[in-house]
Amino acid sequence: MSHKTQDPSLKSWVEVPSHSDFPIQNLPFGIFSTDGKNTRVGVAIGEQVLDLSVLAEESFFDEVAIEDLSVFYEEALNPFIALGKEVTKAVRERISDLLNQTNSELRDNERVRKDALIPMSRVQMHMPVKVGDYTDFYSSEEHARNVGTMFRDPDNALLPNWKHLPVGYHGRASSIVVSGTDIIRPKGQTKADDAEKPTFGPSRLLDFELEMAFITGKETRMGESISTANAEEYIFGFVIFNDWSARDIQKWEYVPLGPFLAKNFASSVSPWVVTIEALEPYRVEGPKQEPEVLPYLQYEGKKNFDLNLEVAIQPEKGEGKVVCRSNFRHMYWNVNQQLAHQTVNGCNIKVGDMYASGTISGKDKDSYGSMLELSWRGTQPIQMPDGSERKFILDGDTVIMRAHAEKDGVRIGFGEVRTKVLPAK
Ligand code: CA
Repeated sequence: MSHKTQDPSLKSWVEVPSHSDFPIQNLPFGIFSTDGKNTRVGVAIGEQVLDLSVLAEESFFDEVAIEDLSVFYEEALNPFIALGKEVTKAVRERISDLLNQTNSELRDNERVRKDALIPMSRVQMHMPVKVGDYTDFYSSEEHARNVGTMFRDPDNALLPNWKHLPVGYHGRASSIVVSGTDIIRPKGQTKADDAEKPTFGPSRLLDFELEMAFITGKETRMGESISTANAEEYIFGFVIFNDWSARDIQKWEYVPLGPFLAKNFASSVSPWVVTIEALEPYRVEGPKQEPEVLPYLQYEGKKNFDLNLEVAIQPEKGEGKVVCRSNFRHMYWNVNQQLAHQTVNGCNIKVGDMYASGTISGKDKDSYGSMLELSWRGTQPIQMPDGSERKFILDGDTVIMRAHAEKDGVRIGFGEVRTKVLPAK
């Protein structure tokens, strides 16, 4: 089932370099400005940003019938997304038509084209959505096994609930920031195994978590549930999600209620929201779930996505290195199951909520999605090109995550989420 906006033969009159993440088949939405303040809704195409507020003002969306054009001038995509999938899909299809090489409407309208297309190098990207609530799942079996092996018991690495429900917890929304935002090393309580009392200071075991997050685009009321079959009606799109973690703080604080200050100081996201429609051609089967899951978690069809993921560490000086190559297809629990589970008790969801996958680790050692696993708790440091080594992330390091799908010569990418770590205050 290939949507017409996904046709590999489509070409745009806007120049798209061959390794671009943003061909005409992608058309992700984001929030940008050119002066740091007057934010608008944009779509990425090649190395340009298409300003939807200009197109709306110039009546290019008249056929889509959007009553209030202010949705294109907001600080976040929430009001646009809240128009509903019928409208947002129609806008995306209209943009696909306008950018098509056979369509002259915008191509030959020099006045509007000059205002509407802005080089990416000239824009600042902002948080794509205002996040009301954030859930952090724990849905990669390899990650859960690695952590269970390290901290508990290699023979019982998964806790008894793990294959019966997508484990998750509610995270902090206020500290989710967009790519390019520096983060400050957190301070907190830690306690060495052989110490009698805890001490206070900067975290020494600062880590990334390689995750993807989906953003919901439709509300439910309290008491309502979403089925696995209907879940995609509620999913607007995806971003890359770096769920920063302070492992030493986490180890001391997390019993019995789970992660708290070790996780809530920052999470970083990529600025472009890739729609679930753009990812249609990249669906793959998930792993076989054994034992059989309860009826409300059963699903039909291909619900995993073949998305190549990578993490690089760039030291302040010297050469960087890709330290992890993973794939979103490794998830044991898929997004439909996550949303069904999130709402099975009647918990209501809102437009702009974020649901992170949990660290995405594969089977191979270089596919582990955190330093905790890559350096195996610091026992196997990673060698950097400049001769230094990394057990965890150091001050001055920039962590860069990238994601893309590729098939039939079409590359659907997410750009990147890039975050520099500054010393503790
Ligand atoms: Ca996480």
